[in-house]
Amino acid sequence: MKKLDDPVSVLPGVGPKKVVALNKLNINTIEDLLNAFPFRYEDFAARKLAEVNDQEKVALKGTVASEPVVSRFGRNKNRLNFRFLIEHEVIMVTFFNQAYLAKQIETGKEMAIYGKWDAKKQRLMGIKILAAAAEDELGGVYRSSKEIKQSQVKKLVAEAFQAYHELLVDLIPLALRKKYRLMSRVEMVRNIHFPDNATTAKLARRTGIFEEFFLFQVKVQYLKKHNRVADGIKLDYDLSKLKVLIAQLPFTLTAAQKRVVNEICADLHHDYHMNRLLQGDVGSGKTIVAAIALYAAVTAGFQAALMVPTEILAQQHAEKFAHLFKDLDVNLALLTSATLGRASQRKELLKNLANGQVDLVVGTHALIQDDVNFKKLGLVVTDEQHRFGVSQRQILRQKGHAPDVLMMTATPIPRTLALTTYGEMDVSTIDELPAGRKAIETIWLKNKQQEQAYAFIEKQLDNGAQVYIVSPLIAESEMMDLKNAEEVYLKAKKRLEPQYHVGLLHGKMKGEEKEQVMRAFKAQQLHVLVATTVIEVGVDVPNATVMMILDADRFGLAQLHQLRGRVGRGTQQSYCLLLADPKNEYGSARMKVMTQTNDGFVIAQKDLELRGQGDVLGSKQAGVPDFKLGDPVANLNVLQVAQKEAAQIVKDPMFTTGNQSELYRYVRRSLVTGMSFD
Ligand code: ADP
Ligand code: MG
Repeated sequence: MKKLDDPVSVLPGVGPKKVVALNKLNINTIEDLLNAFPFRYEDFAARKLAEVNDQEKVALKGTVASEPVVSRFGRNKNRLNFRFLIEHEVIMVTFFNQAYLAKQIETGKEMAIYGKWDAKKQRLMGIKILAAAAEDELGGVYRSSKEIKQSQVKKLVAEAFQAYHELLVDLIPLALRKKYRLMSRVEMVRNIHFPDNATTAKLARRTGIFEEFFLFQVKVQYLKKHNRVADGIKLDYDLSKLKVLIAQLPFTLTAAQKRVVNEICADLHHDYHMNRLLQGDVGSGKTIVAAIALYAAVTAGFQAALMVPTEILAQQHAEKFAHLFKDLDVNLALLTSATLGRASQRKELLKNLANGQVDLVVGTHALIQDDVNFKKLGLVVTDEQHRFGVSQRQILRQKGHAPDVLMMTATPIPRTLALTTYGEMDVSTIDELPAGRKAIETIWLKNKQQEQAYAFIEKQLDNGAQVYIVSPLIAESEMMDLKNAEEVYLKAKKRLEPQYHVGLLHGKMKGEEKEQVMRAFKAQQLHVLVATTVIEVGVDVPNATVMMILDADRFGLAQLHQLRGRVGRGTQQSYCLLLADPKNEYGSARMKVMTQTNDGFVIAQKDLELRGQGDVLGSKQAGVPDFKLGDPVANLNVLQVAQKEAAQIVKDPMFTTGNQSELYRYVRRSLVTGMSFD
């Protein structure tokens, strides 16, 4: 029997090689293929020559005005030329290496040709000849790769649709489809892939966006309701012990820290699963809040775990915690791939986690490996949670008997988006920095002012400061990233040594090497640290008060803010130098925002606004889930409507008891396989 989760290999002509190529594009099943929507369309509707811009891809309709001439050149290359009459103008059409088209072309024949318009030469560089009835046709453009061409993907989509479309069932209830004039699922899928014209394509996409948000929201709301069921664990923590810990701190908690500690503790005490997001700007003091929560779990007789995204951070937190808990009865362990690497240590550690000897463990994703078992895990905290996928968090959660979960993020999300994208979580916000922090002074310089920047750095070094230099980001290639960092490192060395010592930190280094460098920097044996974005999260060296970011316009706002958060951690005035010659208005706008504010929430809001206007660099970093069709910013109103309707449906007792509810079945299925949230 045919099923939508049949593997793509059921399609004719899809052998092992193509399967691999498709899998690389995240297309494993027929359903995946049907959901692999084109990311844009080529417009094959014929246009008027006068309104076509230079280098634009366009379809032109006309009459062949000369016999085609094929000329050969180079090795195996050829060019096909003919004149083409469009209304009263004659242009030249050229196809490269498609000499076989010549037999379709004869003088006097009317045809439509798709190609790239060269205005200067009055020439259309032909891409393809369109079928006679091609008017109004839109051609979807698909994600593809070296191994599989997009025309092949498209052909497979068509075959899959042909063979499987009757299995596409409607997940949006009929009443909602009517209310919002949405297409059926079958029509939606057909018209996104193979639209008759621009209007149907748009309507289909509208349905698709609604569906995507709606399903997401139904899952989120269902999960939230489900989590409220009292089958979690109740942590009876010892308040007097918490008070001892808090009294020992070298500072008093801010009002915001106290508030969120209370929110978290109330959750711990309840017997439903805590599923809480703790958001607070860089430097707002989330770590101590996490420490208090973790300690609370320990005083309740449970084990607790803190999961962080990098070894450096794990190391740093473990050191902090060792200090914090040194007079308290906490057995602390550090678990990273480095500690697990040593066989004897590894065995000991795993044993002590399994028998409950270890109370509190700090670790990287090494924590979620199969052979790591806990005796009685009561609380899991993840730091910089956007770095972990939901599936990873889920695995860690399953290691205990439904432990409470607290996720921390320093990427503030504007209120509207937090509500709609983190709907399944409760949110605590630290909206206040510890008193006495000096605002970081941020200065934007042009690249050619680098010498000035170095002079400033030198002066600060003379005053005893330490400095970060962040090398430019090359998103596409780790190797390039590394090469760049090394170049910057050599330059900084040449400029500043022997007086000052310069170190290098990058993602390709081994855990131990990284630790060594970080330790040397902390101990002020290194004065300058050249780094890639590995220093973005959490690194805490209060004496480092200057940061120079090279080609700063290559970073998104959220990331710049994160990077800048590495300075301004002590009592000294801190500085951030942005070197950038932005290539577009958004780049300039980002630089300006950075010089104007230090407030992460304001920056997140600006980020949203710039994205709304089309700034692509912001998009990846806003800390919201990825949707295929919908954009939570551009389609925020749809998201909100979907949220409202989803809440309504999930509240309805018919939803779960529901007889034939496709929707409910879908939700159960996707939550069991679990991976569909971000
Ligand atoms: P983040 O929220 O970015 O993780 P951290 O937890 O690393 O911030 O805190 C930043 C610095 O502020 C740390 O050095 C920490 O000890 C200090 N800190 C935290 N809370 C307070 C407070 N209430 N008063 C003064 N300093 C604090
Ligand atoms: Mg932190």
